[in-house]
Amino acid sequence: MRTQIPDALLGDPDIVEMDAILRKCVHCGFCLPACPTYSLTGDERASPRGRIYLIKSMIEGDAQDAASIVSSVDSCLSCLACASACPSGVDYQHFIDLARPRLEELVPRPMGDAFVRAMLARILPYPQRFRVALALARIARPFADLLEPLIGERMAAMLRMAPARPQPGELLTGPRQFAPTVTPIGRVGLLAGCAQQVLRPAINEATVRLLNRMGIEVTLTKGMGCCGALVHHLGRAAESHAAVRVAVDAWSAEAARNPLDAIIVNAAGCGTHVKDYGFVMRGTPQEDAARRIASLARDVTEFVAERGLPPMRVGGLPRIVYHDACSLLHGQKVTEPPRQLLRAAGFEVLEVPGRHFCCGSAGSYNLLQPATASELDRRRVAAIEATGAEVIVTGNIGCLEQLAQQTRLPVVHTVELLDWATGGPCPAELSR
Ligand code: SF4
Ligand code: SF4
Repeated sequence: MRTQIPDALLGDPDIVEMDAILRKCVHCGFCLPACPTYSLTGDERASPRGRIYLIKSMIEGDAQDAASIVSSVDSCLSCLACASACPSGVDYQHFIDLARPRLEELVPRPMGDAFVRAMLARILPYPQRFRVALALARIARPFADLLEPLIGERMAAMLRMAPARPQPGELLTGPRQFAPTVTPIGRVGLLAGCAQQVLRPAINEATVRLLNRMGIEVTLTKGMGCCGALVHHLGRAAESHAAVRVAVDAWSAEAARNPLDAIIVNAAGCGTHVKDYGFVMRGTPQEDAARRIASLARDVTEFVAERGLPPMRVGGLPRIVYHDACSLLHGQKVTEPPRQLLRAAGFEVLEVPGRHFCCGSAGSYNLLQPATASELDRRRVAAIEATGAEVIVTGNIGCLEQLAQQTRLPVVHTVELLDWATGGPCPAELSR
């Protein structure tokens, strides 16, 4: 694709990066059938190619309608199915990531929209705040329909999404060590996460138990909070960079005290972001450290597959269907380790047709674009339930909560099943 970026902008490294990405696009449209929002609407502006054109017009300075660019970019899930489908290797991930903060700067949002986005950025990455917000949402949940005319579609959708019951379990903070009962054969850092550990603390508990059973010491690092992914996807570059700086400093200090074999991430969306820290911090004094941290990041299933599962201790396991989180499938290309591990643990693993389609979760997308997210979820759940599986398994808390909205099948995290099969407790969702 030919570009005509104004010379004045070519001193900006982000624009230079976007220009290089744009030049790889040959307008072929192979990405269109892979795109969930295009498949729902048939609208070029809701397709990867359309978004690329609109963003190009913005940086070339001849955009006619800024509001339609914002709406086109906001409707993108960042699922990266388009990047997997593109024969030219267009780096859509970094392209849309760089476009979002630029749009935030250039186009002021209506007050209500700006408020909702700021609220999410100030609550979701902070477990204590999020826990309080969920408790309040749970009280208001039965009145969501009644309140909708007052609070709007998005806030009402958020109330409906609040889990009916609080999940038992403590919030994990560092510094803290979880040592195996045998002499450790390895040591890892764990990203305890933010929203995940409020919504499903059992995922971290299962991760720690499984790793300890493998003889791995697990450490939670002092000062670690959110990895920055949530605000990154909201286009809030300053907040995202601040979170990444804190994480890189905290893990670098931890590794300097006592080397880490890996940094374990059990939320796929966070894993994609941590693995991209080097790019996020490029051109800053922390770039090298960020690249070192990124190189240590492993999805929990990658690490367990590299080291090998402990012996199995449970039989009579249910038939499961594995739902690929987009961030694992397209973002990290981690597809085989979870399947191999689940099969090795004794589960019959069924596949969903059209596995590259997003369930609509996509970070905070289901909170900001509830109608599109709900329709994608409905389609995904229909395809999943048609497999005849008894349990849905996935590697991302967002997908887990999203799918649970529209299915009566239990939805659990991969690591919860691996922990159970190797001697841990049966996940609560399966014993109900
Ligand atoms: S498939 Fe790739 S090259 Fe073709 S239009 Fe889509 S992004 Fe451009
Ligand atoms: S990231 Fe997903 S929703 Fe966005 S353009 Fe690509 S395929 Fe479509």
